[in-house]
Amino acid sequence: MKIPYLTLTAWIAVYFLLTLLPMGLAIAFERPPARTLAVETGALLGFLGMGVLATQLVISGRHRWFAKGVGQDNLLQFHRQMGIFAWLLVLAHPTTLLIAEPAYLEFLHPGDEPLRAFALSGVLVATTLLIVTSLWRQGLKLQYEWWRALHGLLALFVVSAGFGHALMVNHHTTGWPVKIALALIVGAALLLLVDSRLLRPWRLKGKRWTVTKAEEINGEATHLVVEADNHEGLLFKPGQYAWITLGDSPFSLQQHPFSMNSNPHNSRCLEFTAKHSGDFTSSLSEIKKGTRAWVEGPYGVFTLDPSSNRDAVMVVGGVGITPIISMLRSCVA
Ligand SMILES: Cc1cc2nc3c(=O)[nH]c(=O)nc-3n(C[C@H](O)[C@H](O)[C@H](O)COP(=O)(O)OP(=O)(O)OC[C@H]3O[C@@H](n4cnc5c(N)ncnc54)[C@H](O)[C@@H]3O)c2cc1C
Repeated sequence: MKIPYLTLTAWIAVYFLLTLLPMGLAIAFERPPARTLAVETGALLGFLGMGVLATQLVISGRHRWFAKGVGQDNLLQFHRQMGIFAWLLVLAHPTTLLIAEPAYLEFLHPGDEPLRAFALSGVLVATTLLIVTSLWRQGLKLQYEWWRALHGLLALFVVSAGFGHALMVNHHTTGWPVKIALALIVGAALLLLVDSRLLRPWRLKGKRWTVTKAEEINGEATHLVVEADNHEGLLFKPGQYAWITLGDSPFSLQQHPFSMNSNPHNSRCLEFTAKHSGDFTSSLSEIKKGTRAWVEGPYGVFTLDPSSNRDAVMVVGGVGITPIISMLRSCVA
């Protein structure tokens, strides 16, 4: 996949602007009594950490307007790397302060300010949990669905508690303009989290699909067909994928991505082939005809323009054939 150089540069610029915003606001609007360089560095590392963490909610939420053309898979890789960077920033914030001035240990002591101490230690523990459960999910035997739910809750906690901590420390956040600006940034990030986890499934409620076929292929995969109930269906490009939820409600922990392998010309009937690789895919062939389905998408930038007269060489392995089948069907049509 080729991402236009200008598009990429523009999105990287937007990304860095957003991450630097909390730190920039703290420096630009507040003139608290000067402290040593090491202490100020430690404090600003915290603001930078908050900026990177808040921006994680923008890049990871499958928001199609953000970084258009870059591809959700690339964005998720970036989210992963920046998550580790944010964790290092969060750890570096108190470490630098403690090395510079051991008296800052009081910020971790419940003593007079228990809420402030809870917010700081909570952010440290929760950010570490976010990273550990993401990097070693399989080793920890954490099911993907439970991991995803935990990831969302921890992210919600880390960003809100980080903001609370900055307000309670009240050094670079004394004035109302900074308080309000930070609240707007954090509020917008949390709103995006709510949008991706609650409002988006809610919006899917208006577009019902029905399973018309769930047939096992050689005991290794299931051919799933869903049809639109009285709506125009899903307009997609060959090679794209969608997130599928089965059952009466679109609010479910079980939401899985699959590439459409049908012809995009028929937007009202979607076909998928799911290889049996775990609990959801292995029980897919037992799904009854008539089961309600919810389709969120389309996503993905690995597509082929069937009207193009350029030659294409396709090299695929295993179930990776699914997007290619859609491309070939589209070319034939
Ligand atoms: C963009 C995209 C397109 C895909 N298209 C297809 C396809 O056309 N056909 C196909 O057979 N498979 C496809 N997959 C893989 C498919 O989503 C997983 O195999 C499936 O979700 C596994 O669920 P499970 O509960 O059966 O297995 P589990 O035991 O829960 O998981 C098996 C492995 O699949 C991955 N996985 C599990 N759940 C998810 C999830 N919700 N999102 C992403 N990865 C997950 C995990 O890395 C896990 O280790 C696609 C994945 C992605 C990211």
